[in-house]
Amino acid sequence: MNEDISTRKFWRNQARLSAIVVFASVSLSLLLVWLSLGDLPPDGRVVALWLGFAIPAVVSPGAMVYVTFKNLLNHRLHQRVHRLANSDDLTGLANRRCFTRRGTLRLAEAAHTQPTDQQTALLLADIDWFKRVNDTYGHEAGDDVLSQVAQALIHAAPADALIARLGGEEFTVMCDVSGPDELNRLAERLRQAVEATHIVYRGDVIQVTISVGLAIARRCDTLSTFLSRADKALYDAKDRGRNRFALAA
Ligand code: GH3
Ligand code: MG
Ligand code: MG
Repeated sequence: MNEDISTRKFWRNQARLSAIVVFASVSLSLLLVWLSLGDLPPDGRVVALWLGFAIPAVVSPGAMVYVTFKNLLNHRLHQRVHRLANSDDLTGLANRRCFTRRGTLRLAEAAHTQPTDQQTALLLADIDWFKRVNDTYGHEAGDDVLSQVAQALIHAAPADALIARLGGEEFTVMCDVSGPDELNRLAERLRQAVEATHIVYRGDVIQVTISVGLAIARRCDTLSTFLSRADKALYDAKDRGRNRFALAA
């Protein structure tokens, strides 16, 4: 999630900036001393040049340590704000905002970089009868269920999948598949993973199921049209009895 503000990149930039500042301050200082040597005796020139080198060579790294420390605090704050803006507090998954940004990007990139035998797929999963969980065990238990379902999806989805909580009890998984058969197998794996999850809450064992709407990207798809096809398929899965998946036409 922090691909734009990686810590490695931060340290690389700071190292480059420090090297430039130290080199520039020593060079400038030596140049100024050189121009103002005037009629100093040879010994005085050596001392002046030595001081012209030594003072900025000591002072500027010290100043850069201070600047780097301040920048590091800002960098950490930036990372924190980024995390808060892009992830869902409860499950740690990407939130809707992050999904919209990264999903749009992924869809656009797929048109250029995706191998011809791969297609972008979207799985839209909704927990069945989730309101009953809240009504029976309480909202806190419902929150536990949401976290556990998120974990089940993370473990069952492909490693490079974009997984997000769109809101409420609705999750989405975007990934590459070879075609409808692989997508069906993946949906079944997700469905089974959630069904097999037993959430123990204050002595009660809670089990939930999901219904999943599936869609495969078309050339003309935007994220919005892609999502709305998966959403229609999700309604279809709900209508046909829940705890199942349906592929969009
Ligand atoms: P369906 O099978 O048709 O999807 O039924 P459902 O009960 O899952 O759907 P419904 O839309 O009736 O209820 C969704 C519930 O999800 C209602 C809402 O209170 C609950 N919910 C939404 N967000 C949260 C949350 O963050 N935590 C908890 N505990 N509950 C939430
Ligand atoms: Mg539901
Ligand atoms: Mg819902």
